[in-house]
Amino acid sequence: MEIVKDKQILVVDDSKFLAQTTADALRRYGYQAEIALTGEEAVEKVCGGILSPDLVLMDIEMGVGIDGAQAAGLLLQHREIPIVFLSAYSEIEVTEKIRSVASYGYLLKGSGENVLISTIEMALRLYEVNSLANMYQQIFENSLTELYIFNLKNFKFLAVNRGARENLGYSMEELSNMTPLDLEAELDLLSLKARLEPLVCGSNEQLLFNSLHRRKNGSQYSVEIRLQLHCCRRKKICVAFVIDQTDRIALEEELWLLAVTDTLTNVYNRRYFTQKLEEEIERVRRSGISFSLIMLDIDHFKNVNDLFGHNAGDLVLKNMAKMILNRIRKIDTMARWGGEEFVLLLPETDGNAAVALAETLRRQLSQMEIPGVGKITVSFGVASYSPGDTVDTLVNRADKRMYEAKFAGRNCVR
Ligand code: GH3
Ligand code: MG
Ligand code: MG
Repeated sequence: MEIVKDKQILVVDDSKFLAQTTADALRRYGYQAEIALTGEEAVEKVCGGILSPDLVLMDIEMGVGIDGAQAAGLLLQHREIPIVFLSAYSEIEVTEKIRSVASYGYLLKGSGENVLISTIEMALRLYEVNSLANMYQQIFENSLTELYIFNLKNFKFLAVNRGARENLGYSMEELSNMTPLDLEAELDLLSLKARLEPLVCGSNEQLLFNSLHRRKNGSQYSVEIRLQLHCCRRKKICVAFVIDQTDRIALEEELWLLAVTDTLTNVYNRRYFTQKLEEEIERVRRSGISFSLIMLDIDHFKNVNDLFGHNAGDLVLKNMAKMILNRIRKIDTMARWGGEEFVLLLPETDGNAAVALAETLRRQLSQMEIPGVGKITVSFGVASYSPGDTVDTLVNRADKRMYEAKFAGRNCVR
């Protein structure tokens, strides 16, 4: 038998003689042995921090005070500790008592030194394995990544960690009768099998893909899923590492909006508009359905700033943008081209319709009362797509028309 170092065993026995001989035997095998002569003393020493044993050898029947099972119960309330019981009897009452406490073994007194040492060794090893399993279980359960383990035979979930259960709204009991098919709305049995095939045939060690998970309440969330296959006691299992993408997507959207929006007026910026216009030109080349552009510029805006201050000027820009946004369609795009100049992209709109819209906007804007400023007027230039147009030719044409409106006396559409 190997000699163990630095493991402390607490021997609890009301017989001083027996406690001493057991402790002596343990010491011969390299254990540190401590003695307590009553259950109370053992509890006091362990709970009071005087002793920190790796294992307790606990006599069941003790002359005075609490018995071994009660003492063990109190110790276990204090902390996890492997306990091996000792008894002179093997009656049913004794074994029942032992079974009522989470113990690591049972020894009949007088079983001999070898039995004692190997029982203790096994108990210590079992405790170590249990602790390790416990640690893995904790890591699995508390991982912020959603973790799913399912059987590769029938696809049923064997384990689903807390993060996943809470996000989905299912209990483990419910999940144990479910498969990934119940979580991914789009997935059917055939496509699940096809998905897993590269793992099963060994061509891939891991699969990475995006999907949607459906909660118990029917709502869905975007997920990134990593799948791995494992063989566990000849059973093939699949482990899914799932990351809820909701926060990431929201952040990306926020950053994207920040990058494409004009902060003062909340309409798109010039960069985004140009990109959108390029796409629209591409689209019209395929569809042949024309579109129009409206360029608009506030008349004598410099005067607004000069007369009422820059803040009042800002308010004019904000109110005007808001009014136009409310008036245009969802498919239209409005952007701030620069300063007090705005531009509208109107898909599937010919020149006449665009002029009509510009005219409506012009009239409504000229009637709008802006607090602290009063009324303003705006000049409009309209251009429609002609084959061969580019972003520059179109924008230039609309800009030219807008200047024609200025020259024509402002507050009009050209
Ligand atoms: P016109 O009728 O010919 O367009 O005359 P205008 O005064 O509107 O044109 P001009 O280009 O001379 O002046 C534009 C003014 O717009 C000058 C600039 O200070 C002001 N402006 C540009 N951006 C902003 C802004 O974000 N806030 C405010 N308050 N003013 C701005
Ligand atoms: Mg102006
Ligand atoms: Mg201008």
